[in-house]
Formats: sequence, C-alpha cells, structure tokens
Amino acid sequence: MRYKLLTPGPLTTTTTVKKAMMTDQCTWDQDYKEITQEIRQRLLSLAEVSEEDYTTVLMQGSGSFGVESVLSSMITPEDHLLVCANGAYGKRMVEMCQRHGLTHTVYEVPENEIPKAAKVQQLLNDQPTISAIAMVHSETTSGILNDLTEISALAKANELLFIVDAMSSFGGIPMNVAELNIDFLVSSSNKCIQGVPGFSFIIAKRDELEKRKGHARTLSLDLYDQYQVMEKDGKWRFTSPTHTVLAFLQALKELELEGGIEQRYLRYLTNNHLLRQKMEELGYETFIEKNQGPFITSFLYLKDRPFSFNNFYYHLKHNGFVIYPGKISARDCFRIGNIGEIYPEDIHRLAEIIEKYSEVAYVN
Ligand SMILES: *Cc1c(COP(=O)(O)O)cnc(C)c1O
Repeated sequence: MRYKLLTPGPLTTTTTVKKAMMTDQCTWDQDYKEITQEIRQRLLSLAEVSEEDYTTVLMQGSGSFGVESVLSSMITPEDHLLVCANGAYGKRMVEMCQRHGLTHTVYEVPENEIPKAAKVQQLLNDQPTISAIAMVHSETTSGILNDLTEISALAKANELLFIVDAMSSFGGIPMNVAELNIDFLVSSSNKCIQGVPGFSFIIAKRDELEKRKGHARTLSLDLYDQYQVMEKDGKWRFTSPTHTVLAFLQALKELELEGGIEQRYLRYLTNNHLLRQKMEELGYETFIEKNQGPFITSFLYLKDRPFSFNNFYYHLKHNGFVIYPGKISARDCFRIGNIGEIYPEDIHRLAEIIEKYSEVAYVN
C-alpha cells in the first residue's frame, strides 16, 4: 500500500531521490569516492563552517550509530559529560554513557520544558569536573525545540566540549555551527535533508577530533579512524550504503534547488502552522505549549470522545497517510510530522480525512 509518511524520518522522499538509487556503485571507484567528498563538502557549507576548522565524517548505520560513535570515541576517561535530557533521545545518550562506562551527570527536564542555561550553570558550579555537554536540538519525542544559544555560550565560556544531536533539525532550520561553537553535531541521511536511511553524519571540529584520537571503545564506531580513512580520498572504512549515498547527494542538490535551508525551513514552518491550526479547529490540543518546533507535533488524544489510536491510524493509512504513535511517558498522544516531501495541500487533505474520522467516531 502506498502512503505518504507524516513521520520524522524515514520520511517521504521525491521520486528523483528514489531514482538516484537505480545504479550499483563500486566502493573503490574514483567516481564514488568523489561523491562522498562532495557530500562532505556540501554538509560543511550547510553548517556554515569552514573546511579549515571543521570536517564531516559519514558513519554507517542509523542516527543513533552516529551519536554513539561520538560519545564512545570522543569522551575520554578524563572527561565528565553533562547530558541534558527532556525526552527519549536525550535519555538514549544517557544509556550510551552507561554502556560505555563514561563519567556523566544527567540533567533531566520534563518533556514539555527545555533545558535551562541557569540550571546548567548551577550544575557546572557544583561539579567543576564537568568537561563536556551533550544535548538534543529538536527532541523528536515531543516535537519541542531546545534552545542551543545560551547553553552553547556557557559551553564556550567554560571551555567545555559541546555535542549536539541535531538529528531531526539539521537541514531544516538555519544553524551556524561555528557561531554556536558546536564541536560535534550529529544528524542522519533520512531526516531534514530528505534522503533515505542508511548513514549518519558528524560535523566535527577538526582540532577536537584530532586531540581525541585513540579513545574509541569500539572498532566499528571509531570516529577518529573513520575520519582518517575518509579524509585521504573519500573511501569509507567498511562497506558503505552505496545506494543511500547516491540518494543523499541527489537530496542535497534538491535542497539547494529549493533555495537552501532558509526556504526549506519556511516550508516546514508553513506546514507546521497549518497543521496545528487545522488540528485545533478539529478539537485536538498540542502537548507542547511553549517552544514547539516546526518538524513534528504531539497531539493529545481527544477528551470526552471515544479515541482509539489504532482505528485512527488505519483510517489515515487507508486514506494515504501514515503517522506515529506518541512517545510521551505521561500523556496519551500521537505525533504528526510535517517534514519530507510534504506541502500545504497534503496538510489540507489530511485535515479533511481527520475531520471525517471524528464524525464517524462521534456517530458511533
Ligand atoms: C531520529 C533521531 C535519532 C536517531 O534515531 P535512529 O532511529 O537511530 O535513526 C536521534 N535523535 C533524534 C532527536 C532523532 O530525531
């Protein structure tokens, strides 16, 4: 069954992105290695950083592999990492710290609030050994958009390593990685760049990456080794997802054609505003009241009316859209993403379909 994905990745891609995968590539071939290099270059320019100060490392696997690669190879035994967590992805970083035995402190924040710089400052005062901060930008769990500016300023003032999981935001919102002083930013092929799943990428400050050689706790996710090999001529260390790589280059070109990140951001923002407005008209309230991001929205189940997520899901699926269940621990929600090859006309159509569903639920 064909449907559009209203999920935050994998998401709906263009036909041309899918078509780019119709060739088989040799990983040793010069053309293919040049594609890898072009992707690395393009990502640096999207991040608004210079090649002198930053580099891009591509890493096989989903987004979490990229995050784990950074944490498990860049946090040294001397480091003490502060993890800000206001959702499942922040907590996943905590789990990675536990698995790898990294010295860490957790600053846990309710899912409908953002981490606060004042509290981070207090933690830094109380625990002067803290040498690094990790946080999520767009917490896909709820759809909240965390504020990087103040915490990044603290990281800079205290000379702390700053690690950002920008998985569901990078490419979909303007972001100056150098100005934000991010040392390691992680995102993946299947989110706002609108490629297909298969690898993650790390935009890394070169001197920090080079300083942290030899600390990797795994072989496959060794960020430094991957960088060393890729830096030579664009060869990935182990087998790379060749079709995904071709699709990703096409997706990057299409992002440029759309007018770059600024234009894509405006499209997502328009989609998101329209989605929330339409849903509100239909009686659905959002879980996030403040700092709602433009990528994905959590809606509370209807009150005072019968509501079964499964029924709702199949109703939408049969009408051509797939959504996500909620991921909030304390409230019953479902999530609707508005990123990918999605336009206001899709949101209008979705709203019509949801309106019909509500009527059925009422009558029955
Ligand atoms: C998608 C996502 C990830 C990575 O999830 P994978 O399933 O490993 O791709 C990590 N953090 C955030 C905020 C995400 O949205």
